[in-house]
Amino acid sequence: MKPLGDMDKEEFRRVGHDLIDWIADYFDNIDELPVLAAVEPGDLKAKLPTSAPLQGESMESIVADLDRLIVPALTHWSHPSFFAYFATSTSAPGIFGELLSAAFDNKAMLWRTSPASTELEEVVLDWLRQMMGLDPGMLGIIYDTASVSSLHAIAAAREGVEKRIREEGMSGRSDLPLLRVYVSEQSHSSIEKAVITLGLGQRGLRKIPTDSEFRMDAGALAAAVDEDKRSGYLPFCVVATVGTTSTSSIDPVPEIVPICEEHAMWLHVDAAYAGSAAIVPELQHILAGCERADSLVTNPHKWLFTPFDLSVLYCRHMDLLKRAFSLVPEYLRTPEQEKVRSGSDYGIQLGRRFRALKLWMVMRYFGQEGLVARIQEHCRLARLFASWVDESPDWELMAPVPLGLVCFRVSQGAADLDALNESIMHGVNASGRALLSHTRLNDKLTLRLSIGNIRTTEKHVRQVWQLLNEQLQSLR
Ligand code: PLP
Repeated sequence: MKPLGDMDKEEFRRVGHDLIDWIADYFDNIDELPVLAAVEPGDLKAKLPTSAPLQGESMESIVADLDRLIVPALTHWSHPSFFAYFATSTSAPGIFGELLSAAFDNKAMLWRTSPASTELEEVVLDWLRQMMGLDPGMLGIIYDTASVSSLHAIAAAREGVEKRIREEGMSGRSDLPLLRVYVSEQSHSSIEKAVITLGLGQRGLRKIPTDSEFRMDAGALAAAVDEDKRSGYLPFCVVATVGTTSTSSIDPVPEIVPICEEHAMWLHVDAAYAGSAAIVPELQHILAGCERADSLVTNPHKWLFTPFDLSVLYCRHMDLLKRAFSLVPEYLRTPEQEKVRSGSDYGIQLGRRFRALKLWMVMRYFGQEGLVARIQEHCRLARLFASWVDESPDWELMAPVPLGLVCFRVSQGAADLDALNESIMHGVNASGRALLSHTRLNDKLTLRLSIGNIRTTEKHVRQVWQLLNEQLQSLR
């Protein structure tokens, strides 16, 4: 048995240095790895012991298994030819931030349990707010994911309806009308999940149609709210999306704001993907109208080179968020509690990770200019790819390309174009040399190419275009 206590410090140094080398080699060679894990379901499980080792093992044997078992079962999100979903990536300063955060192992539940985490979070989120051009009335808080950020925003909105839901709940109440949240048909499923989780029920969510460019139809929203009010419902929240998941379309927030104000509805903006792009001066207009929103979520773990997970909720009514979630038992009371902010007052979790550290390191290392330049380059590459699609007789664009995402498909030459496009995607993905994903637009299977990885260059974009065309020729 190993002696009690932690790993000895010499071993820690040695293994630590080796592991940093291991990561550096991983990034050096990542281009050669298949982007999509070439494994079948159950492959990894079948190779792992069914119970934990009785005796401690050497780090060498653990690291050897990393190469032998874990890496082959990874889909490499850090691969420069990862173009699926929303392509995202970690970065070296972000990795160092994660490493340090694991060493400090702070649980930032109260200010005193981690003053550094609490105060750095406030400062870093204010930096980001300024970079995004959001107004100073928006205060930020970090959660793990946008799904959780939006859940908290809707919970705060619900607290704002003043129906004593925190105290009395929603079930068994004849005095409570049906509370409704409005989203576009293109909104992310996380909003519907939040509505379900908060006990509003799927009936409590109304999906508003979109226009020809997949943006919420503000006229249809106004009509839906009027109709619901006439039916005795209580419309209380609209979630607009800036950068929808399927196409990166941008809901017309300036048109949605007056509807929310007229009916005293909370406006939450889901800018999980696109929020980062607002740091680019020529793209700041994507957040037009958001200066009058009640809350907004953006994910630095999506397009700000920050390792998963780190999502930011900006909220104009921190008091309501606190009213919805704060519950301080005796054992958590502190003398300074009236003077400071404690993260656990603003959410479900008690303990909170020191996530601000990695964002701080990313923002300081790259600087605003460096972050802007990287996002600009991704947008340029997306426009370049879109121009090839546009000029080709075989392919067509399926949606505008405002940011780093291109939606496209083969437009002719087969009776079943959905099947052809799907086969092309599977062919590219099976090659291991690039990874794409898909969506369905106007009932047509559509391929999505998302550019957001810090390592992606024009070479990789040219390569996937060639792969797509090779697949097309082979299937014709
Ligand atoms: N909102 C939008 C617009 C998204 O595209 C996504 C994920 O891609 C989410 C929310 C959910 O993000 P998370 O994984 O951080 O919950």
